[in-house]
Amino acid sequence: MVKPHANELSEKEKNILTKYALQLTQTIREPLLVLDENFCVLSATTGFKNRFKLIGQAMDGDSVFHLNKGQLDIPDFRNSLEGVLKTGEAINEKTFSIGLKKKGKKRFAVNISLLESPNVQNILLVSFRKLKEMSKTDKQEAVFNRIFKNILSKTPAAICVLRGPNHVFEVANENYMKLLGHRDIIGKTVQEAIPEVSNQGFIELLDEVYKTGEPYIGKETQVQLKVDEDKFKNSFLNFVYQPTRNHKGKIDGIFAHVIDVTEQVEARKAVEDSEKRLREVIDAVPAIVWISDTKGQTVYLNKNWYSYTGQDKETSEGLGWLEAIHPEDREQTKLSFLEGHEQKKGYSIGFRLRKKKGEYRWVLDKAGPKFDSSGNYEGMIGTLIDVHEEKNKEDLVREKDHRLQGIVKEATVATAIYTGKEMRIDLANDAMIKLWGKDKSVIGTPLHKALPELDGQPFLGLLRNVLDTGETYWGKEDKVDLMIDGKMQTGYYNFTYKPLRDKNGKIYGILNMAIDVTESVTSKILLKESEFQFRQMADLMPGMVSKSNKEGVGIYFNKNWLDFTGNDTTKLKEKGWFQYIHPDEKEGFLRAWQDCLSTGCNMEMQLRLKNKEGKYIWHLSRCEAVKEDDGSIKMWISVNTEINKIKEEEKRKEEFLKMVSHELKTPVTSIKGYVQLLLTLIKKQEAAEASKLPLKPSLERINHQVTRLTRLISEILDLSRIRENQLELKKEEFNLNELVQETIQDINYTNTQHEISLDSDSQFRVMADRDRIGQVIINFVMNAIKYSPGSQNIILKITGEGKDKVRVSVKDFGIGIGEENYKKIFRRFYRVEVKREETYSGFGIGLYLANEIIERHNGEIQLKSKLGEGSEFSFILNTTCVTS
Ligand code: ADP
Repeated sequence: MVKPHANELSEKEKNILTKYALQLTQTIREPLLVLDENFCVLSATTGFKNRFKLIGQAMDGDSVFHLNKGQLDIPDFRNSLEGVLKTGEAINEKTFSIGLKKKGKKRFAVNISLLESPNVQNILLVSFRKLKEMSKTDKQEAVFNRIFKNILSKTPAAICVLRGPNHVFEVANENYMKLLGHRDIIGKTVQEAIPEVSNQGFIELLDEVYKTGEPYIGKETQVQLKVDEDKFKNSFLNFVYQPTRNHKGKIDGIFAHVIDVTEQVEARKAVEDSEKRLREVIDAVPAIVWISDTKGQTVYLNKNWYSYTGQDKETSEGLGWLEAIHPEDREQTKLSFLEGHEQKKGYSIGFRLRKKKGEYRWVLDKAGPKFDSSGNYEGMIGTLIDVHEEKNKEDLVREKDHRLQGIVKEATVATAIYTGKEMRIDLANDAMIKLWGKDKSVIGTPLHKALPELDGQPFLGLLRNVLDTGETYWGKEDKVDLMIDGKMQTGYYNFTYKPLRDKNGKIYGILNMAIDVTESVTSKILLKESEFQFRQMADLMPGMVSKSNKEGVGIYFNKNWLDFTGNDTTKLKEKGWFQYIHPDEKEGFLRAWQDCLSTGCNMEMQLRLKNKEGKYIWHLSRCEAVKEDDGSIKMWISVNTEINKIKEEEKRKEEFLKMVSHELKTPVTSIKGYVQLLLTLIKKQEAAEASKLPLKPSLERINHQVTRLTRLISEILDLSRIRENQLELKKEEFNLNELVQETIQDINYTNTQHEISLDSDSQFRVMADRDRIGQVIINFVMNAIKYSPGSQNIILKITGEGKDKVRVSVKDFGIGIGEENYKKIFRRFYRVEVKREETYSGFGIGLYLANEIIERHNGEIQLKSKLGEGSEFSFILNTTCVTS
């Protein structure tokens, strides 16, 4: 035995209840069941057992619903039992269709009541009365109903007829049956047939219609109908409850006409839902969204608008939203909005929108036209995004840009920006405009138009190249010709052409910065020129000029150096010029040079340098430092001047002094000797006869030596006079022939070994210093005597030279003079070197003086000579008178 409920009874209770139930059933013939609170059979009458074919079957304690394989397991029956048990209210004459074996379903009127027991559990009494079979009229009615049913089944609506105050289903068409899921309803009350609607208000409605006779129209009324065990379906119905009346006009039923509009309602609801969801989405978008109609009236604003502006729906719709826009921006915003609508074109505008608290913030409004699926214009949809921070940043960037432009404008470095292919001058600061020699009107014009003079110069091409390749161009000291003040002027500039790129890396222009270096380039050019001039000058200089860097390494040698050494610059640089210094001076020089390098002091030194023939030549070497402004050494310039001649002259001077002392010594010694002799003789005069004493020759010798000494001294004096330019001429007119003769006589007086002849063709008078001319003749003759040790003949000639000139020549047949010495012998102290064994006294000043004297008379000295054959010296003077 299976207990349907856990509400277990004790054995004792069970016995009491069973006994009690049996007592009830034994006396009643009608079909009756006694059930406990668990709906288990306590007892059943025979009538019940007969009716439901349960004779001989033990059923005590079985659940009523298990009887005859669930014959009574009817949901409505179960509900009814539970209802009675719960409420205690009895059910009378409730119709149930119960399936009977072989007979099919039969209708029973069932009564259920609760029998309260004082001691134990309550019990339920359930009686069954089989309902009568249909009468004839019932059958007719059934026919009518069938026809009615047939007709109704064709209508698209669900139709049924409910009979009686309990609303028993009398007729229902197919659509109605379908609506209820084809359940068994006919003969059942609404409550029984569709118990799920009992708490949905329909029965109350039916009751109301039945009671009042007023039809009821339901619209899209929701109903929950059971489709399966625990499954309910939501349906929406449009229905009419129309009361029906019997022949007496009394309401006897209700005609229900139902149209299932679930699909439409659900479709509409789906649309509404999707719209709602869309709005929810729109509301969730972190932006303000607005929607307008074709007339330019805002019909929808999402939640964000209201929370942002604090406006309400009424004030913001239409054009009310404009009120929240900053007064300064309102007009423009309105214009854009209406224009966008008119042209059905999207637009974007920034404006200040007032926040709830009155603060204005920048927003960006972007709108676009809205079209339906058929392409019809529906209005606009737009979004508003708060761009306040960005705008501020943008303003800041613009401000920075502005400031930057200001800086560029103020900058002293010439700056310009060119944009686009035509290289339009977008920006050019004052410095650049000044550099171009133009005015501000060039800004905004293409570069080639602003500076047409650039045509033919490489710059436009260079700029184009920068645009094409993106490679910066660096101009260094580039020469630019610009039209400044109506004149083409050349300048030199260091500049850059730098590509400018946008945020996507695309080149949109060029930044040009330039510095005028004209001055430095010009000075460099000048420097180069002066360097060139220096070299030229250095080459022209008689000395050997060289340049060394601050470390003393030779970097330049002038032509004289190259000529002198026979080497080229490279060789000289390699070896340095110091290698040419004579070993005797080299060490000293290098020591001094090192000193110079470290101290920066200049130096001067005499040294010998070896020439290309290997001969050492005396030079005066001077090294001088060229210094920077700060005093540091920049380079060295060395000049080596040949002083060989000076050196030789010095040497000759030394020799001269040696000779002077020697020459003076001889006459003085001699004079001294004769004077002593004369003194001795005078002493002896007292003792001997004076006449026998050799006084005359002694005095003659003294005289001769004194003459020599006098001449020597006057020559030295003349020398210094000439040096001091104090040699004065005492000019007078005299007979030259006479002077020559007198001179020869004088010489002959002291010189007896040589034969001096004189030959003259005429008598010549000259205007001259007689003594000085005499001095010249003496010098010529004395030399002729001195340098002709092996020959005695000396020939003097006085001959006319042209019309008004006279030549006096002195010819000897002595040692002669080599041609190389023709000129040199007229120099001071110059004496032709002779072999050691042949010494000739003299100082080398006689011919020098003679030459000076004749030159001062505007005359000329000439020499004809051949080494070993003799010489002929002559001078020519102007004559004042010539007579034969
Ligand atoms: P000095 O005779 O005292 O040396 P001068 O000036 O008179 O000086 O002469 C210069 C040099 O010229 C002489 O030293 C000599 O070498 C040369 N000289 C002058 N006259 C003659 C001459 N007639 N024959 C050869 N050499 C001469």
